[in-house]
Amino acid sequence: MAKEHKRPDGRKLNELRKMIAKVGIIPNADGSAMFAFGDTVAIAAVYGPRQLHPQHMRNSSTGILRCNYDLLSFSVYDRKRPGPSRRSQEISRVTEWALLPAIDLSQFPNTVVDVQIYILQADAGTRTAGINAASMALAHAGIPMKDLICSVALGKNDQTLITDLTKEEEDYKEGEGATDFAIAKLANNDEFSLMQMDGKIQPEKVKEVLEMANEACKTIYEAQKKALKEVVENPQGGTEA
Ligand code: UDP
Repeated sequence: MAKEHKRPDGRKLNELRKMIAKVGIIPNADGSAMFAFGDTVAIAAVYGPRQLHPQHMRNSSTGILRCNYDLLSFSVYDRKRPGPSRRSQEISRVTEWALLPAIDLSQFPNTVVDVQIYILQADAGTRTAGINAASMALAHAGIPMKDLICSVALGKNDQTLITDLTKEEEDYKEGEGATDFAIAKLANNDEFSLMQMDGKIQPEKVKEVLEMANEACKTIYEAQKKALKEVVENPQGGTEA
């Protein structure tokens, strides 16, 4: 019989890290939120809809979504060089694509909705934490949405499928090594809006990965909804000193 796989932090195979979801953290933004999976912490701020510059990028039949993802220098142990990179540009685009199926900007022609995503601390899964934060921040900004977007990374250490990989698990070297899948989906139907994979996986295991994603996204959705409800009930938030 194959040896049972033990995760370094003792989680069950399908267990998410401890999540923190908060809405309304940046007073000057039209909408804002933070989302953490364990030591991965993302914040998102939404500005708009506002007039789009440069003018040639305007679309007279709809507003556009513009996301900017930034992994801050101090978010990782080996200080990251500040500023844009190919990686941050790619993640900014896939974040836009992941969020677009949930939002409707047709009432706001010629405008842009800017979503700024900052990773304050990174321990893998930053694009997925950023998408979760951005989805809540868009809802907080009152952008018309048909659903929330939930996002999570799943993967494989050797032959074992696991949910919400840490950096240590992404770097796993034994047996078949590590594979990671970043996934985003609409919370209330089976439409996936992001699927990116690093590594290798047997095609027959993909269905199982998607089932694990569905299960994890249900838990994430509950955390997002709870945070949005809290800000509706207590718009000022926090505790006054
Ligand atoms: N990372 C890093 N320096 C970088 C980029 C990434 O240390 O310049 C780490 C960070 O912990 C990140 C992880 O590598 O979360 C995995 O990065 P990846 O590009 O796979 O995206 P993510 O899993 O964060 O969405």
